[in-house]
Amino acid sequence: HVDRQKFVYDFTEGNRDLKDLLGGKGANLAEMTNLGLPVPPGFTITTEACKEYLASGEEPAALRDEVGGHLEALEQKMGKKLGQADDPLLVSVRSGAKFSMPGMMDTVLNIGLSDKSVQGLAKQAGDDRFAWDSYRRLIQMFGKTVLGVDGELFEDALEKAKDAKKVTVDTDLEAADLKKLVTKFKKIVKTEAGRDFPQDPREQMDLAVKAVFESWNGERAKLYRRQERIPGDLGTAVNVCSMVFGNLGPDSGTGVAFTRDPASGHQGVYGDYLQNAQGEDVVAGIRNTVPLAELEQIDKKSYDQLMQIMETLETHYKDLCDIEFTIERGQLWMLQTRVGKRTAAAAFRIATQLVDQGLIDETEALQRVNGAQLAQLMFPRFDEDTKVEKLARGIAASPGAAVGKAVFDSYTAIKWSRSGEKVILVRRETNPDDLDGMIAAEGILTSRGGKTSHAAVVARGMGKTCVCGAEELEVDTKRRRLTVNGTVIEEGDVISIDGSTGKVYAGEVPVVPSPVVEYFEGRMHAGADEADELVAAVHRIMSFADGKRRLRVRANADNAEDALRARRFGAQGIGLCRTEHMFLGERREMVEKLILADTENEREDALKQLLPLQKRDFVELFEAMDGLPVTVRLLDPPLHEFLPDITELSVRVALAESRKDANENDLRLLQAVHRLHEQNPMLGLRGVRLGLVIPGLFTMQVRAIAEAAAARKNAKGDPRAEIMIPLVGTVQELEIVRDEAEQVIAEVQEQTGVELKLALGTMIELPRAALTAGQIAEAAEFFSFGTNDLTQTVWGFSRDDVEASFFTAYLEKGIFGVSPFETIDKDGVGSLVRNAVQAGRATRPDLKLGVCGEHGGDPESVHFFHEVGLDYVSCSPFRIPVARLEAGRAAA
Ligand code: PEP
Ligand code: MG
Repeated sequence: HVDRQKFVYDFTEGNRDLKDLLGGKGANLAEMTNLGLPVPPGFTITTEACKEYLASGEEPAALRDEVGGHLEALEQKMGKKLGQADDPLLVSVRSGAKFSMPGMMDTVLNIGLSDKSVQGLAKQAGDDRFAWDSYRRLIQMFGKTVLGVDGELFEDALEKAKDAKKVTVDTDLEAADLKKLVTKFKKIVKTEAGRDFPQDPREQMDLAVKAVFESWNGERAKLYRRQERIPGDLGTAVNVCSMVFGNLGPDSGTGVAFTRDPASGHQGVYGDYLQNAQGEDVVAGIRNTVPLAELEQIDKKSYDQLMQIMETLETHYKDLCDIEFTIERGQLWMLQTRVGKRTAAAAFRIATQLVDQGLIDETEALQRVNGAQLAQLMFPRFDEDTKVEKLARGIAASPGAAVGKAVFDSYTAIKWSRSGEKVILVRRETNPDDLDGMIAAEGILTSRGGKTSHAAVVARGMGKTCVCGAEELEVDTKRRRLTVNGTVIEEGDVISIDGSTGKVYAGEVPVVPSPVVEYFEGRMHAGADEADELVAAVHRIMSFADGKRRLRVRANADNAEDALRARRFGAQGIGLCRTEHMFLGERREMVEKLILADTENEREDALKQLLPLQKRDFVELFEAMDGLPVTVRLLDPPLHEFLPDITELSVRVALAESRKDANENDLRLLQAVHRLHEQNPMLGLRGVRLGLVIPGLFTMQVRAIAEAAAARKNAKGDPRAEIMIPLVGTVQELEIVRDEAEQVIAEVQEQTGVELKLALGTMIELPRAALTAGQIAEAAEFFSFGTNDLTQTVWGFSRDDVEASFFTAYLEKGIFGVSPFETIDKDGVGSLVRNAVQAGRATRPDLKLGVCGEHGGDPESVHFFHEVGLDYVSCSPFRIPVARLEAGRAAA
């Protein structure tokens, strides 16, 4: 039972199912607490409190007292009071939304320190330096995130203090130096924020909580949410947790760990440890960590306990978990766990491993992977035998093969990528301010930081290639270049980075197909074990998906080669053969003749020339798809696409006229071009309209289909052709074409003596067609939703123009999180689809329903089409495995 009026939950009260309310971090801290794991006590302020605060600008009235009550309980448990002068309780105030947003929101540590309590902390810890360092960190973090002071000012002061002492690292500053720095920091706060740094610990805490609430709507957070499609109205929870310290000496430290390798899925000890440090030092990649395995030598007791806890967590969560922990003077504390991010390859392997271990079943395994990951595995990879010079090797942080021009700051990355350049963002380390640059880049390369550094975590989340911690590289962002063993890479030089191996190359490395594609192609893969294991996992997951799915998957393919590939990829037919693609090249002139024909005879001649060519196309296609349905769509695009460009032709004719040798043909052509020129060709003479105004065009195509089918039958084949009429807006159009088509089919049957069953249907790609689907179904045996044109006409967006013109602004303003041409707009376009499905089936219960717009291969859209009850989706050959997987996931 969830009480929406209860704003604060002790860690002992929550559980992992309350992520909506407690955020991911809070819910999992509660879960660990209840598992009896060593979690420092604390409490969570709910997302409801945050939402109320963001809506009204004020904290909910009850919040203050509730926090007070929980704080008191915490103080009792810890045996000390927040900010108590002689022995202060210190707390961290951390953000934690339902979905992880690494580094995007605020956190303040060491709350409770003041001019008085810093002395008490020093005495208790027996360490002056530590106490003053903690205090200066508090003022710095609080000043920056809560009071909005420019963080550079603190950094500069810190640098100056080090310069004055002629030391280079923070740890060389002594207690007295840090004490002076605290005075300096407080002065900065006073001048910049116009107020004193608050000495009252409760005030510190309350202000920090408010700042965390507000950071939900920070620019960085908003951008990240749009990118990751996280809804903007969820709010963040706030975790108030008693502080434990990893920087109390060599018997302390902090680290991150994974229950398995998030890159490969292998079981083993994976993680990083940093002795005598706080968590922030690891994530920021400021000092280099040691592999977790070394903790066994450093502190065996804690190491063994950690291994035990990891096992408990993995069995409990039945999944890969990642963990943040701190050791304070030999005592292990768990600061966070969550089901960990992983690479696409690891996702497939872990899912099948867990099935083998009996921890999850097939249905659950399907939920552990997704189509986007599968698509990623189908990307080509670098050729391992490349002759291109290897520059360096870093950590393989996020797989993929990226090639681009080196850029050294986010601004340039964005600017260059906008002008169409591919870039690799090279940084010493990234921070949340680099997010836009990371989005714009093909890949990310850093010289510092481990697998859990900001760059690595964010890149993995975005599915972007990343190599991090390539320490040989000397990255000089000021001079915009990197140096490695004497080689200099300047801004604009092409480099290649391999996120699967960590290798960095100067120049462009050739790429080879992925083993997963090789597998789908049915080619034996002579690769490394890694690749074999991956292929085996993909194979099993695909068979789970095929076993579960209800939707059939067809391909959009116009020639035998594509059809055969689609078939190998698992296509169960062709859902869209665009015949206009068969009129390109040398055949264009025949169409030109058809358009220009003045007399019946001329037209007949042109059609006669086209017929055998079309027939041959179809014979090949039906043969490639023998036994499976092939939907052939009659000619769709505007006629003027088959004529020369109006401007070029006008110039040519004008020049010829000035030379007085204009030829008759060109003049005729020019007239026709003028006659057929349209302001809005997309809304003009195309689709069924063409068929109705150019006599003989559609019947020629129908004849070619019918004759091809008859020929295939005579060759003992099993052709299953379906004829599809595009751009129908009213049933009358369809009736005319249908009657003509039936007559032609009857003639062909007569002539060949072969019985033909050719289904006749239509595309639903205009709003009027969708709205009158009940009537249209009277004349159609099947519908195929053309969601490209349907999106274009429902929104009034020109599909050829908008993505380049104003969509960026729309995406930036959050009007939609993704282009409606990419993912179906469920509320608008989708609702027309849903209604047309119902109306169509009401008229004709056995109406066959599919979709052949681009959305047919988009994961989210596939789920929608499953839900509205279509029979199949049709997509480009390379998307077929993705559609199969998502159709399985939708049904599982
Ligand atoms: C559509 O409009 O969705 C469709 C599949 O047809 P085309 O993209 O060829 O216009
Ligand atoms: Mg269309």
